[in-house]
Amino acid sequence: MKIKFYGGVKKVTGANYLVEAGKIKFLVDCGLIQGKNVCELENFEEFPYSAREINFVLITHAHLDHIGRLPKLFKEGFDGYIYSTLPTKDLAREIIMDSKKIVEENCLSFNKDSFYTEELIEKIFQRWKTIDYYKELKIDELKIKFYDAGHILGSAFIYINFQNEIITFSGDLGSQDSILKPTDELPETDYLILESTYGDRLHQNLESRKNILEDIVEETIREKRTLIIPAFALERSQEVLYDLISLIEDKKVPEITIFLDTPLGIRILNIYEKYYEYLNEEAKNFFIKRNYENLEYLKIIEEKNIYGIVNYPSPKIIISSSGMLKGGKIIPILKKFIEKEETTILFVGFQVEGSLGRNILEGQKEVIIDDENYQVKAKIEKLLSYSGHKDQKGIVEWVKPQRKRIKKIFLVQGEKEAKISLKIKLEDYLGIKTEIPEENEEFEL
Ligand SMILES: [Zn+2]
Repeated sequence: MKIKFYGGVKKVTGANYLVEAGKIKFLVDCGLIQGKNVCELENFEEFPYSAREINFVLITHAHLDHIGRLPKLFKEGFDGYIYSTLPTKDLAREIIMDSKKIVEENCLSFNKDSFYTEELIEKIFQRWKTIDYYKELKIDELKIKFYDAGHILGSAFIYINFQNEIITFSGDLGSQDSILKPTDELPETDYLILESTYGDRLHQNLESRKNILEDIVEETIREKRTLIIPAFALERSQEVLYDLISLIEDKKVPEITIFLDTPLGIRILNIYEKYYEYLNEEAKNFFIKRNYENLEYLKIIEEKNIYGIVNYPSPKIIISSSGMLKGGKIIPILKKFIEKEETTILFVGFQVEGSLGRNILEGQKEVIIDDENYQVKAKIEKLLSYSGHKDQKGIVEWVKPQRKRIKKIFLVQGEKEAKISLKIKLEDYLGIKTEIPEENEEFEL
């Protein structure tokens, strides 16, 4: 086999890996390259391979940085099938449709033709087949299995066996504390393509995630604050909402008004209900019986008007997207509240370099929003254990049982420091040869 790294290498985003197994060529993930923009200029460069020659694509999960260049692949002549789990396909449709407008705006600003046309998007879903976890997919001499990665609903790490040589793609790996089932154990593998988003970090004590949230909510109520939670429509919003409602129902905190201001987040909530059997026991019961309309303190905002939210008396909680503050409904809310000392902004997900979220999180006191300067007077908090990624310890523990079998690990989907730190740990502690591939680098396995 041969593997080529075409994305998810230089940056965390844009995952795109090509495997050659005998005569067969296939891709694992085809993600959008993201940074300051949802869709960066690099996305318009032609793929460094012929899309026509690709036989099929395997998708680990529905985040845009793993699926977002699929329309472009079809535009360049790909005509094979896409394979993923069933929830991934449903979520991918929501995610792609939701990002269509903003991707098209980015295209326009770069003076490029959009690859998010109705026709190309429709084609993706016509060519998209689904497979359950643990079922063997046989293509030619390849035996492929999807395992539960516990990162977002339907997320998978993918096991590929070709003539008894095994390569496994981790996709993104979930942290232990989640509404999903825990990440499946890593099966026997010779080569591992491993994510490293939090490869240099240790999460706060995971047991305490809900306790920390409880403290923040209590402070919000006591001091009549406005708590703003920038929400990633997928997974983070559902998890935060689940914890908030549980805190109120378990009477750990008094009732407080929660504005859920993310239409996509609400649509995705419905997909969670549909696939409740993919969730862990506790969360399953929560999502299966939930009737959100009955919760007086929960205000689901579907319209564009933000005045109701802004003028509503504090204390209050506002969950609004986008998660990295790169546009979305949260921007007008942020403008109203960022300069107030009685505001708390709570980050619950990874903030990419260059994003407004990252700048605020790193303590910038003055930021630019829509070409205007704003003083950051709000209190900034973070609870990154919601981020849905394993930390360094979690990654090392996941790999450890296979340390004798693994011949080599390739680190992807992380910033440079994260990869270097994780490489040292994997080599020194587990004794596994670990590579940090360069963009477009090729390895013979
Ligand atoms: Zn992801």
